[in-house]
Amino acid sequence: MIRDEKTLNALLEEVRDWVRRVAHPNEQRVADTNEVPPGIVQDMAGRGFFGWSIPEEYGGLGLTTEELVMAAMELSQSAVAYRARVGTNTGIGSEALVADATEVQKQKYLPLMASGQATGCLALTEVNAGSEASNIETTARRDGDHYVLNGMKRYITNAPIADLFTVFARTDPDSSGARGISAFIVERGYEGLSTSAPYKMMGQSGSPVGEVIFDDCRVPVENLIGGVEGIGFKTAMKVLNKQRIHLAALCTGPAIRMLDMAMDHANTRQQFGQKVGNFQLVAAMLADCRAEIEAARQLVLATARARDAGADIALEASICKYFASEMCGRVADRCVQVFGGAGYVADHSSIERYYRDVRLFRLYEGTSQIHQLNIMKQMQRRRSAEAVSR
Ligand SMILES: Cc1cc2nc3c(=O)[nH]c(=O)nc-3n(C[C@H](O)[C@H](O)[C@H](O)COP(=O)(O)OP(=O)(O)OC[C@H]3O[C@@H](n4cnc5c(N)ncnc54)[C@H](O)[C@@H]3O)c2cc1C
Repeated sequence: MIRDEKTLNALLEEVRDWVRRVAHPNEQRVADTNEVPPGIVQDMAGRGFFGWSIPEEYGGLGLTTEELVMAAMELSQSAVAYRARVGTNTGIGSEALVADATEVQKQKYLPLMASGQATGCLALTEVNAGSEASNIETTARRDGDHYVLNGMKRYITNAPIADLFTVFARTDPDSSGARGISAFIVERGYEGLSTSAPYKMMGQSGSPVGEVIFDDCRVPVENLIGGVEGIGFKTAMKVLNKQRIHLAALCTGPAIRMLDMAMDHANTRQQFGQKVGNFQLVAAMLADCRAEIEAARQLVLATARARDAGADIALEASICKYFASEMCGRVADRCVQVFGGAGYVADHSSIERYYRDVRLFRLYEGTSQIHQLNIMKQMQRRRSAEAVSR
């Protein structure tokens, strides 16, 4: 749903301009220093980029899902590190609070994330809880007016720099699977919480990912999200359902950018006395990229609109994430091919960096295989529901 076309267009224009004027010229610097420079982070914060999805009453822009995915497609037409820097606040790092927190919790934490003063993250994954996300072993034991958390989360985006952690832990020691899990908002500085150094990764230089360690970490009872034990996994699923559409948009932006770079190359590089883009075999690769990007874009927009209208989008959100992330991988591969050797040599183009950066999309927030399984599950669920209503 678009609330006000003029306001949205102004925002999209601002992001588009910022991406070309600030983000693109600094991409190599971000890769070389493995950090988004603090001045650029401040610039993004000043422009409200951290608060896109946070409701207006808590200092954000309160973008609808449709507006959010449109903004995300613009911002992500640059190195992934930029949108990863703000993206936990506009997605998984704030959404559990937006969806399920008490009013007091919202008032306390959301304005900090909306302004970019605090960086949020979502800590779900563990050594034995990857695709099987409900197999959480981190425990939270009630001790007076605190919970005492013990365990370790791994592969957590922005953990090394985060101020606020949405953490999922087992409050019922006798439970297994999705039951008995609760969600907490944990502040850096709480006794017993530490984070690792960032991992060395295949790509996404400048986007720190690491571990979160809870060693008798004392969390005040008032930081139990929603104030109710045992509903944490439902909260996680609410977050991830919305995030699947958001992430699909964030897969579409880099694909648009890679195609743009490949088009430039195809229109300038000459072989056999003509531009390589004139060769029909090259043209076909570029056309396939465009066709798939457009399909993903329309799918994401339609699903975002359906979510805004209150429809059940569990099936469509999974399709979005699966299709857009796989699409982005295919586009990256074809674009490297269009660049020829220059696509492989980092000194000659940045397409190889994008190729490495986007590989992650098919792995996190549900691997492609997990989404294929979920798509089947959701199809069966709908068939059963239709059969009952017939
Ligand atoms: C850089 C990075 C950032 C991340 N950020 C976050 C974050 O911010 N917060 C967070 O909580 N997590 C985060 N993750 C974790 C991510 O969501 C998990 O890595 C992902 O869910 C896969 O889990 P796994 O790595 O344990 O793989 P595994 O579950 O071990 O999967 C291994 C392989 O087995 C396949 N497989 C597993 N189960 C099945 C099945 N039932 N059927 C068919 N195939 C199956 C998978 O598809 C995969 O191919 C991040 C990961 C990375 C690498």
